[in-house]
Amino acid sequence: MMKRAIFPGSFDPFTNGHLDIVNRGLSLFDEIIIAIGHNTTKKRHFEIELMKSKIENIFSNNNKVSVKTYNQITAHYAKENEANYLLRGLRNITDFEYEKSIASFNKNLNPDLETIFLITAPEFSNISSTIIRELHKFEADITNYIPFEL
Ligand code: ADP
Repeated sequence: MMKRAIFPGSFDPFTNGHLDIVNRGLSLFDEIIIAIGHNTTKKRHFEIELMKSKIENIFSNNNKVSVKTYNQITAHYAKENEANYLLRGLRNITDFEYEKSIASFNKNLNPDLETIFLITAPEFSNISSTIIRELHKFEADITNYIPFEL
């Protein structure tokens, strides 16, 4: 059976850490959908359509990766897209606590969806979109942390 995974997130912005998770995920899955969610509680710093096109550019030569935006519960969105795997990255214990409860809610919402965690590579484990947004607001250089120019 075809293994399709969804990699959901805010990706505000998409970072080298996210890229590493997708690239490593490609050895596990036949297809990965990078799904940029409209988060109702967070106001974005980088426009969702801008981020979508920047990520699409990175993977323009790779037909196993697609980029979509969505505005619904992730577990339902995965089902709609016939994705049986939900890919997430784990940086630290804080991520773990949060991801553990999300994964259990997702399992109740969609029992066919299996969450797969990849431990972040050490060189990316301190990269956070929140900090990059903060740097960008104050016009600091963020080129070392993201895989494109913004
Ligand atoms: P969300 O708002 O849903 O947490 P993010 O865009 O912050 O979305 O993160 C999406 C996924 O990528 C999450 O699983 C998160 O733990 C993971 N992630 C975030 N930063 C990194 C990083 N530096 N390296 C690897 N994975 C990361």
